[in-house]
Amino acid sequence: MASPKLSVIIPVHNESANIAPLRARLVPVLDGIGLSWEVVFVDDGSRDDTLEIVRNVSREDPRFGAVSFSRNFGKEIAIAAGLDHARGDAVIIMDADLQHPPEMIEAFVARWQEGYDMVYGQRTDRSDETRAKRGFAHLFYRLFSRFGEISLPEGAGDFRLIDRRGVDVLRTMGEKARFSKGLYAWVGFKGTGVPFVVEERRYGKSKWSFRTLFRFAFDGIAAFSTVPLRVWTYLGFLISFLSIATAIFFMIRTMLFGTDLPGFPSLIVSIMFFSGIQLMSLGIIGEYVGRIFAEVKRRPLYVVSERIGNAAEVSTGLVPDNYLMRRV
Ligand code: UDP
Ligand code: MG
Repeated sequence: MASPKLSVIIPVHNESANIAPLRARLVPVLDGIGLSWEVVFVDDGSRDDTLEIVRNVSREDPRFGAVSFSRNFGKEIAIAAGLDHARGDAVIIMDADLQHPPEMIEAFVARWQEGYDMVYGQRTDRSDETRAKRGFAHLFYRLFSRFGEISLPEGAGDFRLIDRRGVDVLRTMGEKARFSKGLYAWVGFKGTGVPFVVEERRYGKSKWSFRTLFRFAFDGIAAFSTVPLRVWTYLGFLISFLSIATAIFFMIRTMLFGTDLPGFPSLIVSIMFFSGIQLMSLGIIGEYVGRIFAEVKRRPLYVVSERIGNAAEVSTGLVPDNYLMRRV
């Protein structure tokens, strides 16, 4: 089968109820664009019958294919696998739960044909999320744009179209702690946003808890900024300077007026204060060392247990060595 123009990659983790409604909405949109297309599902270790359903879809319509992981590797890695298996000149990434309206793809493709390499959906409201989650997201974007080495367009997520040359760059990035939004921005090229309204999740519930989101945000900051590592040096300098100044102040005061109290409480307080600072800075170093450890192990990003339909046709012949290492 000749390479299609458009590839849609969809990570799926326990999404059995969503696949039929998604397909029903997606196919007319893709057919309407008038370019050849394929869909690559990445089954991220689903424990329900998602894989069976995907297999049937692929049997009925060969434009649908799938890669199935040996276990759950997480959405970010699933996207990486999707990029490895997509053959199109433009790749569209979207969620399976219909929160990303398939109708938007038409607008994405139109912008791509105008010459943009990266067209991202920009969510206009986050009203489906709790206030805490929204506040946290906002704080994260502010922190990131201040300290990160790249800036992220606010409200842009994984729902996007990426031109082949962007995809090829992304595929060379083998890091494990994958913060896709940061990777997309790092790639650069000409990008533009298309606003869209996030729909309600169709079936099932979101797999993100507050804890996983926090983890994700920290991965993002740590992958693109060394500020958390460096800030302690400055703070350390400042605190030492302050303590010297205080010491001088106390010395002069004692010389002029003598002691009025033994100073035991202040000793305890300062010991506690500095142990706190030291523990915190050790913790930050630990975060980075942990990441270095994860990267130097050079494990493959994911393990494929099965390739279905068009995903099985992907040739590994022209792929540089580091991809071959990632492939199993
Ligand atoms: N997903 C995945 N692996 C995971 C968790 C989620 O592939 O470990 C997929 C999921 O099937 C969906 C997309 O990632 O297609 C977004 O997941 P979800 O709706 O849970 O996230 P949210 O919309 O809350 O950000
Ligand atoms: Mg969702």
